[in-house]
Amino acid sequence: SSGAEAATKIVINLERLQELPADQVGPLARYAATIQTQRGDYNGKVLSIRAEDLRSLAIIYDLTPGELTDRLIGWGVLPPEAGPAMQE
Ligand code: C2E
Ligand code: C2E
Ligand code: C2E
Repeated sequence: SSGAEAATKIVINLERLQELPADQVGPLARYAATIQTQRGDYNGKVLSIRAEDLRSLAIIYDLTPGELTDRLIGWGVLPPEAGPAMQE
């Protein structure tokens, strides 16, 4: 590979996600809830998701993965240090 992908873990802040308006975060909130159901992981304050899932979500939001990462940082759903990891 070209080595362009630095695969830092994507850790979503579930408490922050619940505070945001549904019309903004709807697809992400449904995606996270689905992953929680699939794992049986309901009690966490955070949820680690796959890098591949961020790519799928970026398509849903019509953004690049880097743009979606910036937006999630702006919402407070991802910590600021998540930024450089998803740039390609
Ligand atoms: P699966 O993809 O067939 O994964 C089966 C099991 O392998 C998972 O059970 C988990 O114990 C382990 N596993 C697979 N990939 C990883 C990984 O990157 N890290 C870790 N820590 N474990 C991994 P689990 O957690 O009960 O998940 C059951 C099924 O739910 C998964 O089957 C998958 O179909 C779905 N799922 C769970 N979490 C995610 C996710 O974050 N993204 C996606 N796309 N699917 C997920
Ligand atoms: P870590 O990955 O840095 O996660 C730190 C803590 O964040 C975890 O402590 C847990 O309280 C929370 N956390 C992170 N992702 C999730 C998530 O998807 N769901 C929930 N419910 N909580 C999450 P914990 O559980 O005591 O784990 C401590 C460390 O043990 C983790 O640090 C990681 O290094 C390792 N670990 C735990 N479970 C797994 C796993 O499934 N796969 C791998 N590779 N490491 C794991
Ligand atoms: P992690 O468990 O520390 O796994 C780090 C990376 O190792 C994953 O990045 C993936 O590239 C690889 N990996 C770990 N376990 C497996 C596996 O069973 N099969 C495959 N094909 N690859 C594996 P990725 O995919 O970006 O996932 C990031 C984090 O999201 C994982 O960190 C874990 O905390 C969480 N996660 C992803 N998928 C699942 C899942 O199915 N179940 C659970 N419980 N956690 C998951």
